[in-house]
Amino acid sequence: MTETVTNWARNITYTAKELHRPRALDALRTLVAGSSRVRVLGSGHSFNEIADPGVDGVLVSIADLPPVLDVDTTARTVRVSGGLRYAELARAVHAHGLALPNMASLPHISVAGSVATGTHGSGVRNGSLAAPVREVELVTADGSTVTIARGDARFDGAVTSLGALGVVTALTLDLESAYEVEQYVFTELPLDGLDFETVAASAYSVSLFTDWREPGFRQVWLKRRTDQAPVDFPWAAPAKEAMHPVPGMPAGNCTQQFGVPGPWHERLPHFRAEFTPSSGDELQSEYLLPRASAVEALHAVDAIRETVAPVLQTCEVRTIAADPQWLSPAHDRDSVALHFTWVDDLAAVRPVVGRLEEALDAFDPRPHWGKVFTVPAQVLRGRYERLGDFLALARELDPNGTFANTFVRDALGA
Ligand SMILES: Cc1cc2nc3c(=O)[nH]c(=O)nc-3n(C[C@H](O)[C@H](O)[C@H](O)COP(=O)(O)OP(=O)(O)OC[C@H]3O[C@@H](n4cnc5c(N)ncnc54)[C@H](O)[C@@H]3O)c2cc1C
Repeated sequence: MTETVTNWARNITYTAKELHRPRALDALRTLVAGSSRVRVLGSGHSFNEIADPGVDGVLVSIADLPPVLDVDTTARTVRVSGGLRYAELARAVHAHGLALPNMASLPHISVAGSVATGTHGSGVRNGSLAAPVREVELVTADGSTVTIARGDARFDGAVTSLGALGVVTALTLDLESAYEVEQYVFTELPLDGLDFETVAASAYSVSLFTDWREPGFRQVWLKRRTDQAPVDFPWAAPAKEAMHPVPGMPAGNCTQQFGVPGPWHERLPHFRAEFTPSSGDELQSEYLLPRASAVEALHAVDAIRETVAPVLQTCEVRTIAADPQWLSPAHDRDSVALHFTWVDDLAAVRPVVGRLEEALDAFDPRPHWGKVFTVPAQVLRGRYERLGDFLALARELDPNGTFANTFVRDALGA
């Protein structure tokens, strides 16, 4: 690489010789058609080599393509560039009185990169960020554009695709009327006797946080839509001051708490768009498993908390509604997600990740595609019933494997 390009966390340096930033769609088509290995870099918020094309490959950012942001207030949809970040998308949509159903913990991530890895927020009835996508436009290996819309038999492979089908230049998303959200933080929720289903369903979006230094949860974040029933949360005490999910970090980086109502896009993420969510001195892992196993899985982590806690900054527990996307970690099952923000020390973290994966193995966990995991490929492949359909779609759209890097080949056997 003539310039050093790293991911946001700086634990990955991409090995491609150059980062290409085409300024026109035709330049992108020419670049892709003339290259034997291509990967797109979104906003670089993944923690593994998923975006790396390898030394002989072409790494491409589409952030400099002419932006697309067309809100259709009649159809209640938005057509948006793949490289745009959620913060910008959300502001534009909100200005038209419309909204997305959910957001991730931060709005700094690109739309195409997020849906490619199955990125999600929380909520028992909320699907991943791929759920509102109704159409994807891809520049495929020969430089032509393929549009795949909901209803097409290929659609359930085309959104959460790990970037393995082509360059997603634009997506069309369903919208709903804008809504307001109040955010409340509670402290000290015991694990013993936890009625997870009731707690997780007590607001539109619920997150539990712990550092696993003690059993139970240090914080509970509830995001209530003001057009839905008021929150009754008798299981923990309201926080007395504004909180950050990582102990010791400034709460000023976080979205408004104490039930002050505000627009959906300024409450659903935990972190405010105008701040860097943290210094980037962290690694992350996350596992999605059946929601019905949540309490048992949390006890399995509690049993090894003395191993987990020393390398942990914070652990977040969220829920995601089942999703039809073939490679979605929430595919076909209502899920609970156990997320771990680790210290920035892979050598210390890796063995703990392995130990955690052993502890969770009985629950068939599917790791987040954009985070650190060590689950063996054979095991991983067995956890995706529609993997064969995805591989057939990849062969159809990308017969020479232009978009299959080492990560994708190892994980999927592509
Ligand atoms: C601080 C922090 C907080 C996070 N919070 C959450 C969270 O709340 N929930 C959650 O689920 N995850 C979360 N993540 C993980 C993050 O959402 C995912 O890693 C996501 O993929 C990031 O999007 P990106 O654009 O940065 O993707 P990148 O890391 O740039 O790329 C990810 C994948 O998408 C592909 N890709 C990117 N753009 C395109 C395109 N235009 N066409 C085709 N393929 C493309 C890449 O090739 C790669 O395979 C968080 C990460 C960080 C660093």
